[in-house]
Amino acid sequence: MSSIQKAFKVALIPTHNQEVLINKTIGCARYVYNRFLALKKELYASEGKTLNYNTCSQQLTILKKEIEWLKEVDKFALQNSLKNLETAYKNFFADFKKIKGKKGVGFPKFKKKHGCKQSYKTNLTNGNIQIIENRLKLPKVGWVRFHKSQCITGKLVNVTISRTSSGKYIASILCEAEIDKYPQVTPNIGLDLGLKSYLTTSNGETVDNPKYYRTQKRKLRKAHKKLSRSVKGSSNRVKAKIKLAHTYERITNLRDDFLHKLSTRLIKENSIICIEDLRVANMVNNHRLALSISDASWSKFVTMLEYKALWHDRIVQKVGTFYPSSQTCNHCGFINPLVKDLKLREWSCPSCDNYNLRDVNASSNILSEGLRILTAAVGIPEALNACGELVRPGAIQAKIVEAGITRL
Ligand SMILES: [Zn+2]
Repeated sequence: MSSIQKAFKVALIPTHNQEVLINKTIGCARYVYNRFLALKKELYASEGKTLNYNTCSQQLTILKKEIEWLKEVDKFALQNSLKNLETAYKNFFADFKKIKGKKGVGFPKFKKKHGCKQSYKTNLTNGNIQIIENRLKLPKVGWVRFHKSQCITGKLVNVTISRTSSGKYIASILCEAEIDKYPQVTPNIGLDLGLKSYLTTSNGETVDNPKYYRTQKRKLRKAHKKLSRSVKGSSNRVKAKIKLAHTYERITNLRDDFLHKLSTRLIKENSIICIEDLRVANMVNNHRLALSISDASWSKFVTMLEYKALWHDRIVQKVGTFYPSSQTCNHCGFINPLVKDLKLREWSCPSCDNYNLRDVNASSNILSEGLRILTAAVGIPEALNACGELVRPGAIQAKIVEAGITRL
């Protein structure tokens, strides 16, 4: 048994009054975020000073005395808005230093009323949030009914309420829960993420790419057409917008379900999982590949693997992007430059004559390179026994987390 943080998502069924108050809270949270972002920018431009979280928090207390309607909503929502702003700044500067401001997390932007994610977060203090059967108690809002599709277990930490583009209200309930770890297993695996198939393992297994955008294309096109033909400001336009948002939400749900099932299975069956560290952000700039890549949503998949690995004492080891995993023959180590051509799906090694299937060869190389990095970096070669099996996953996992090695 071990303690983890897990988020449960449920669809809320608010009454009209509750809906109004939730929207008001989202609006106030956005107002606070934007107001303090403007203040921070202004102060920096005029005096070169920065405003820290504590000062902002004090200013917020003063602001609430001036603006009556800020007092009507959940105070935690407003505090969390300030915290989010602080995090946005921190992420920006951390990323800026790391990659010299070329790409990555941008400077914090003002939140818009439409288009971006609309949400607020509230924290648990003195039983202000409770769950009884299919009802969730929220500060100020009161008891809200929700669709119960799963059992919510564990100690409540916080709740994020969001409104989707199609107008649904979702509560993401974060709980601290005890989980049963999967039993220890010995196999290690290398994964080659691709476009033709979603991934190929070093065992030779191929998982097909479901390509949900492509399969739902007709529905998407129809929804887009309906929207573009509707008259601006008409009620049909509102309906068409909701219909389109529904289609997109359905695609996301289908894809998330696929990614969850796949990552859970890989974690359950393997001890060490080696993957290529794909700079997805860079690759998406290539327009021709962009749709396929975002559809494949690799980064989401890797994140799932990483947190599930933490839960179950598994290891996810990334291999550098510049490692020539496709071109190296896994049998003898010969580097064949001809394999740079993406169309070359299988090849005979000029050096050892081994017949290599492109993706299986690549994933086998990723596995060997991952294991090499792992043993070198952790500094305990005894971590692996003669068969390359992990001996003490728990201890090594802890050491890796401590050293931050998984983020190569
Ligand atoms: Zn060879």
